[in-house]
Amino acid sequence: PSLTNESNKGIWGQMALWKKILIGMTLGILVGAIFGHDAEVLKPIGTLFIHAIKMLIVPLVFCSLIVGVTSMQDTRKMGRIGLKSVFIYLGTTAVAITIGMVLATVLTPGDGLNMVASAAADEGKSAPSLVDTIINLVPKNPVDALAAGNILQIIVFALGLGISFNLVGEKAKPAVAVFESLAEAMYKLTEIVMKFAPYGIFGLMAWVSGKYGLDILMPLIKVIAVAYIGSIIHVVFVYSGIISVFARLNPIRYLKALVNPAAVAFTTTSSSGTLPATIKCAREEMGVSKGISSFVLPLGATINMDGTALYQGVTALFVAQAFGVDLGMAEYVTIILTATLASIGTAGVPGAGLIMLSLVLTTVGLPMEGLAIIAGIDRILDMARTSVNVCGDLMVSVLVGKSENELDTAVYNKEATATPEF
Ligand code: ASP
Repeated sequence: PSLTNESNKGIWGQMALWKKILIGMTLGILVGAIFGHDAEVLKPIGTLFIHAIKMLIVPLVFCSLIVGVTSMQDTRKMGRIGLKSVFIYLGTTAVAITIGMVLATVLTPGDGLNMVASAAADEGKSAPSLVDTIINLVPKNPVDALAAGNILQIIVFALGLGISFNLVGEKAKPAVAVFESLAEAMYKLTEIVMKFAPYGIFGLMAWVSGKYGLDILMPLIKVIAVAYIGSIIHVVFVYSGIISVFARLNPIRYLKALVNPAAVAFTTTSSSGTLPATIKCAREEMGVSKGISSFVLPLGATINMDGTALYQGVTALFVAQAFGVDLGMAEYVTIILTATLASIGTAGVPGAGLIMLSLVLTTVGLPMEGLAIIAGIDRILDMARTSVNVCGDLMVSVLVGKSENELDTAVYNKEATATPEF
């Protein structure tokens, strides 16, 4: 047939990956809406995809970080990039919570629910102390860290190893070459796994939309809407604004390019799990150098959680409104501070933000029952916040890349992807 003249792949085979992902997502929602809980039979397709993508994380982060460090001989530059990234990560996180709290104050999603708390908030998770957090950054045993997939510890070890390779110089070249070729293979494997994304995402969406029927969502539709509106505002205005004002780049390109990783984040609800797709996007679609992307993105996937912070701002006020608790200025400031810290401590895995929410609620004395209400719909909220988390990591990699002259504007500005489809 004429459509397959150029190659014998057909319409589906030639379609760009992001379009396929959006189709997979839409079909998944429809199938879930039609078949309800029965759509759960499709979940294994999604789980298979999640396994495949998780399989990539440890070797990808480890090898690409070492390559990043060894391609950046200057240690001072690395320190500067690290500081810059952390500073932007924290700043945008505080903005995100503020957006969440302003929206929740104006739109009052919890009003009218008239919940009554049975007991004062006292239990809940307590934060690990700062000293413990710092001590735990250094792995006692790097193999353990790799096996457990502890990204922060892996970052610390990979940085140390990379810096040592640089100091050793000539004699370290063969080892560096091994990591370089492993890193390349991991990128290739990521590309192969991503081909499977539309199907995996279809399976996950069918399951989620089948599981959460309208009857579960309706009573809490306002808080969901506020969280989603806040997330969209943060990505479309704050991130795009930063990209155009500070990086002087076209924000539309940024918004277009992030569709793939955002869709993977939306459906897998794990920013660590999305990391391979995020790194691929930063390198191939946004032109961020290997050095910057392999350093800034794994760091961001573990500490930068703007979506989670925004969600905590919205849900904390929602709980206060639903239980009729009046919050003063001091509590607002406390929420901003604890939510920023809690979001840093949140692991990039599904549902982690909910656990950290208990910390925020306890700190300002809000009832723990609020947590139970949110838990019922947490997956839906997690989808939005994880997407924002990942979009934030990408924004910072673009900004830092541009400021360090490590962003290929030709790649960033290109209209269509040149990557061939299988
Ligand atoms: N699922 C989120 C993430 O991986 C973390 C959270 O639960 O807030 O980014």
